[in-house]
Amino acid sequence: MTSPSFHQPRGPQQQSPGKACVIGHPVDHARSPIIHGFWLEQLGLAGSYHREDVAPHELAHFIRTLAQRGYRGCNVTIPHKEAAAACVDHITPLAESAGAVNTIWVEDGETWGDNTDVAGFLAHLDASAPQWRDGCRNAVIVGAGGAARAVIAGLMACQVETIGVFNRTPERAHALQQRWPSITVLDASTVMDALPHADLLINATSIGMNGPNDRPLDILTLKRSAIVCDIVYVPLETALLRDAAGLGLVCVDGLGMLLHQAVPGFERWFGRKPVVSEELRQRVISDLNLARR
Ligand code: NAP
Repeated sequence: MTSPSFHQPRGPQQQSPGKACVIGHPVDHARSPIIHGFWLEQLGLAGSYHREDVAPHELAHFIRTLAQRGYRGCNVTIPHKEAAAACVDHITPLAESAGAVNTIWVEDGETWGDNTDVAGFLAHLDASAPQWRDGCRNAVIVGAGGAARAVIAGLMACQVETIGVFNRTPERAHALQQRWPSITVLDASTVMDALPHADLLINATSIGMNGPNDRPLDILTLKRSAIVCDIVYVPLETALLRDAAGLGLVCVDGLGMLLHQAVPGFERWFGRKPVVSEELRQRVISDLNLARR
């Protein structure tokens, strides 16, 4: 199994302290300021990272004027990831493949868009379940939104043999099949047939956020060697991951993806490659717990 090649950062071109932001609408929920703030402080860098609430009709103009606003780049969160792909001057092959952009930087006065959710998903999977690269032939993904696109782009780049996609709204899964003809669209019945053969099951929906019984599937028929990933990170242990842990399966939570997807953006804007550490993870968990009180 090969690794995807990512567009290599050239590092910041300006000498002044870097400034970056996350754009969303709303944007108050975004955890990126905690992550980038932690790394700026840890590395003793003078840069800063901000939240910018950008309404959909302002998106294209905001991205075009990033440098004028003093920004070296930005992260992009809900609801702008797909629209942002059409607003940048250049797009990396992975972002093109995923059809969505979550990280933008300015290079020689032009904007570039990347999808680091792809790298974030793979990096966290590699860190949490390194054995997946040897044994993963069949993957089942629940969901067909922006996050599912990033997951599919990553698994495709790693040449996973079969990828089945199950979504509440089948039309969205069929739209993904237009983009990636080799995927299989599953329905409520065929997804249960696919589960016993799955080496990797990924929840790429927001199911799991609504209470202790909010689960996408009954996973009793999964193999004992299967790996179960959830990209939801609030709560950190979803009903799906609790079920998987109860069956003794390897579990991969959603927080690591969030932390790892931030690494390439930080490196581009601030010129140093940060590390995803347990201390950072605990910092974000504390913030999530505070927000839930
Ligand atoms: P999106 O584009 O809006 O897609 C949402 C997906 O969830 C769709 O497949 C949707 O199905 C499904 N869904 C939502 N509510 C559902 C329900 N009650 N029953 C069945 N399916 C339901 O959103 P997204 O960007 O893909 O994000 C999905 C989740 O991933 C969010 O919770 C987001 O916070 C999380 N996420 C995490 C990371 C990370 O770093 N860990 C990164 C990106 C996203 P339909 O098509 O039928 O509506």
